[in-house]
Amino acid sequence: MPEQTLTIALSKGRIYRDTLPLLAEAGIEPKDDPETSRKLILDTNRDDVKLVVIRATDVPTYVQYGAADVGVSGKDVLMEHGGDGLYEPLDLNIARCRLMVAGHPEVAARGVRLRVATKFVNITRRYYAEQGKQVEIIKLYGSMELAPLVGLADCIVDLVDTGNTLKANGLVPLEHIADISSRLVVNKAAMKMKSARVKRLVKDLEAAVARRA
Ligand code: AMP
Repeated sequence: MPEQTLTIALSKGRIYRDTLPLLAEAGIEPKDDPETSRKLILDTNRDDVKLVVIRATDVPTYVQYGAADVGVSGKDVLMEHGGDGLYEPLDLNIARCRLMVAGHPEVAARGVRLRVATKFVNITRRYYAEQGKQVEIIKLYGSMELAPLVGLADCIVDLVDTGNTLKANGLVPLEHIADISSRLVVNKAAMKMKSARVKRLVKDLEAAVARRA
């Protein structure tokens, strides 16, 4: 890719859908739709701006190593990644939800060492360590809500939006860990080397977010 290209990393689905109108307001429109195209690098209406569409959990890594100059990533994914090599200049205020401990209502009263199922292993470890609680963490890759139902875990750490998924499975939110939304992240070197263009993008997106508030 030419050095002067600005590469933006996005993930498919909710983040892509919610980021697109913000990018459009910043004058950036993709030429292909990642839902139908098999291309991994999307051209935009601007010759000097490309999009890469990747897995949500890979976005911080691409930006950390400078394979993308900027990216859009959920705060949950950033907390789990650790944020090394990244600036986080802007809350895009999209894909909002909460990161919570959830389980059967009676689990809070259990005195034993809890088994916690989650895909957010690092966040969960830090959360309980800060409280001085010893827990056993079981790493899962999806459908966390199932774990307490089949006795795999006492509780889960997962994203909650409406709370309908928990409710449908007889679970309740127990503890609030963090409010989550998608953030713009910038590679630290790109912030220096492509400073004017990155700052312009941040400013344009900031204005687009403010218009929505
Ligand atoms: P809900 O039933 O609306 O509370 O949604 C819960 C389910 O949607 C869980 O399986 C979550 O992992 C997922 N979810 C909710 N909000 C988000 C989000 N902002 N980003 C990604 N997944 C989410």
